Amino acid sequence: MESKDIDQIKKNLTHWLDSLTANSNKHIIAFPKSNASSPDFIDRASAQSEMEYTVNRIYRDGLNKHSILNALEKIDDGDYGICEVCEEKIPIKRLKAIPDARYCIACQTEIENDLIVAYNPKFLKRYSFIVESSL
Ligand SMILES: [Zn+2]
Repeated sequence: MESKDIDQIKKNLTHWLDSLTANSNKHIIAFPKSNASSPDFIDRASAQSEMEYTVNRIYRDGLNKHSILNALEKIDDGDYGICEVCEEKIPIKRLKAIPDARYCIACQTEIENDLIVAYNPKFLKRYSFIVESSL
């Protein structure tokens, strides 16, 4: 991989991380303004669904942040762009589109089909943060 590609990807990841951090601060600030204790049922229901949306968003942002930090750490360690399952190079085109990609397309497809989880202890270990944080 060319160093200018890596530089650009690192810049994009850092920018994405910064925007997620700014957004999560905004969500936390928005919480006290909610209508959760309003006497009106519609206001409370609406506040409830807003809160659920916000919590889901914070959860998703957290997963993305973890993934971005993982990618940035790999860039620093020099093993960025290597599939975590088969250890083959992930094509640059995929990394440009999904800079925090951890798997090649073939492994990603298998993961999505849940085939690897049952048979690959290495994958289970690396993927465990998602399982833990979703409990
Ligand atoms: Zn792979």
